[in-house]
Amino acid sequence: MPVYEFKCGDCGQVFEVMGTYEEREKAHTCPGCGSEKVKQAISLFSAKPPSSSF
Ligand SMILES: [Zn+2]
Repeated sequence: MPVYEFKCGDCGQVFEVMGTYEEREKAHTCPGCGSEKVKQAISLFSAKPPSSSF
Protein backbone atom coordinates (compact mmCIF):
# COMPACT_ATOMS: atom_id res chain seq x y z
CA MET A 1 0.00 0.00 0.00
CA PRO A 2 1.41 3.39 -0.95
CA VAL A 3 2.49 5.89 1.65
CA TYR A 4 2.07 9.61 1.17
CA GLU A 5 4.02 12.16 3.12
CA PHE A 6 2.44 15.45 4.05
CA LYS A 7 3.85 18.57 5.63
CA CYS A 8 1.87 21.00 7.73
CA GLY A 9 1.95 24.59 6.51
CA ASP A 10 1.43 25.95 10.00
CA CYS A 11 3.73 24.04 12.33
CA GLY A 12 5.88 22.24 9.76
CA GLN A 13 5.21 18.78 11.07
CA VAL A 14 5.66 16.00 8.57
CA PHE A 15 3.34 13.04 8.79
CA GLU A 16 2.51 10.06 6.66
CA VAL A 17 -0.80 8.93 5.29
CA MET A 18 -1.11 5.35 4.19
CA GLY A 19 -3.79 4.41 1.74
CA THR A 20 -5.22 4.59 -1.69
CA TYR A 21 -5.13 7.38 -4.22
CA GLU A 22 -8.46 8.55 -2.84
CA GLU A 23 -6.94 8.77 0.63
CA ARG A 24 -4.24 11.01 -0.75
CA GLU A 25 -6.73 13.30 -2.45
CA LYS A 26 -8.74 13.82 0.71
CA ALA A 27 -8.19 16.81 2.93
CA HIS A 28 -5.86 15.94 5.76
CA THR A 29 -5.45 17.38 9.18
CA CYS A 30 -2.12 17.91 10.88
CA PRO A 31 -1.80 15.56 13.85
CA GLY A 32 0.35 18.11 15.62
CA CYS A 33 -1.72 21.31 15.54
CA GLY A 34 -4.94 20.31 13.80
CA SER A 35 -4.39 22.65 10.86
CA GLU A 36 -5.73 21.67 7.47
CA LYS A 37 -3.03 23.61 5.65
CA VAL A 38 -1.09 20.51 4.74
CA LYS A 39 0.74 19.85 1.51
CA GLN A 40 1.93 16.63 0.09
CA ALA A 41 5.68 16.48 0.51
CA ILE A 42 6.89 13.22 -0.99
CA SER A 43 5.39 10.11 -2.44
CA LEU A 44 7.52 7.17 -1.47
CA PHE A 45 6.20 5.06 -4.31
CA SER A 46 6.32 7.58 -7.14
CA ALA A 47 8.41 10.67 -7.81
CA LYS A 48 5.80 12.06 -10.18
CA PRO A 49 3.87 15.11 -9.04
CA PRO A 50 0.07 14.91 -8.94
CA SER A 51 -1.39 15.15 -12.41
CA SER A 52 -3.90 17.76 -11.34
CA SER A 53 -2.75 21.32 -11.83
CA PHE A 54 -2.92 23.95 -9.13
ZN1 LIG B 1 0.56 21.48 12.13
